[in-house]
Amino acid sequence: MTMPEIVHSYVPANILQRLIRFDTTNPPGNEAACIAYLNGLLTEAGIATTLLEREPGRPNLIARLAGRGDSPPLLLQGHVDVVTTAGQQWRYPPFEGRLAEGMIWGRGALDMKGGVAMLVTAFLRAHQEELNLPGDVILALMPDEEKGSACGAKFLVEDHAGLFAGVRYALGEFGAVSTQIGLRRCYPIMVAERQYCGLRAIVRGPGGHGSIRQREGILTRLTRVLNRINMVRLPVHITPVTRRFVESFSQAQPFPLNVLMAQLLNPALTGRILDLVGPMGTALEAMLYNTAVVTAVHGGDGANVIPSEVELRLDGRVLPGFGPAELLAELQAVVGDGVAFEVVTFEPGPAEPDMALFGMLAGILRESDPEGVPMPMLITGVTDGRFFAQLGIQTYGFTPLKLPADMNFTALLHAADERVPAEALEFGARAIYTALGRF
Ligand SMILES: [Zn+2]
Repeated sequence: MTMPEIVHSYVPANILQRLIRFDTTNPPGNEAACIAYLNGLLTEAGIATTLLEREPGRPNLIARLAGRGDSPPLLLQGHVDVVTTAGQQWRYPPFEGRLAEGMIWGRGALDMKGGVAMLVTAFLRAHQEELNLPGDVILALMPDEEKGSACGAKFLVEDHAGLFAGVRYALGEFGAVSTQIGLRRCYPIMVAERQYCGLRAIVRGPGGHGSIRQREGILTRLTRVLNRINMVRLPVHITPVTRRFVESFSQAQPFPLNVLMAQLLNPALTGRILDLVGPMGTALEAMLYNTAVVTAVHGGDGANVIPSEVELRLDGRVLPGFGPAELLAELQAVVGDGVAFEVVTFEPGPAEPDMALFGMLAGILRESDPEGVPMPMLITGVTDGRFFAQLGIQTYGFTPLKLPADMNFTALLHAADERVPAEALEFGARAIYTALGRF
């Protein structure tokens, strides 16, 4: 089955070009003009909107289409801020939104003004064509995702939860972007996130005069601790989502790749298979292990004094269903005694995903790309989905893109030359539009 050919007045590539031209680098964000442009699109179409801001100049935009009421309302959520381009060498200026080589180039093309352009296009088309919606559709366009969402999703969830009454599912960022896995084009739909757990550790030693070498002093201890944390994997955990993810892509491969990849689920072999897989293994590894990465080291302040204390900061990420206690125990087992770990922040996420809409979304992808293999995915970072999860809302990462096999999506995120094929945006807008008729 193919999607009907309809000529639309809303073109996601054009909308994306306009969005990129607003420099919404966060910090400081400056999202107001970008949101005003989107607000104009919606109000000119005759859709009522609400603007809500926690800080002046950083509005959130909410709009709603009425449905039949057979299904709970569906939320479409996206952010319009972007990360910095400082220090990067771009082929084309990052805020020009140039169309070249069939691609729209610019900061946010993928993360996630491209997604916003697709969500808004689907929403506007649904209104224009009076699509028969199973339930209300709520559109939330937000600032500040890249810096913790205090002015965006976090603010909406904490101060305006009533707007989302009855909502159980959302479509948002990071998912359904085609990725070559082995010999197949796969569409991982994000259904779960790892949880952020910031840690602190103190390494102690005798300290002393800088003129006297300490063979077994604090620096030896620190080196050993850093090496252990960097080189040793924590215990493997096969969560239900990861099991389904690995089963889906391994079953789609020819022999013997299928057998080899399935062994990722055999804890005795997981590490060895990951080492064989190469760069692709990095993302997979994050789905199979709790992790902690040392991101800062503080200690000492004079060239002639050996410090007696060095502080480490760690970026910890915990799989769904696990908590900080497990991460601390796993780390302690790796580095041994003599180092005390402490949790600085923990942002809990939902334990297990609600998969009710997954089959419908996967079905749309199969219709749109019969050779593609949809699968549920756990993402290694976090999205605004974690805030909506506090209201009992399950977010699916569903901003579909069918990309050329040689295009490495994740390598372009937050990087120079971020770009997206204009055609892929139309593919995604249609898939989202279809979902609006079927949720
Ligand atoms: Zn994003």
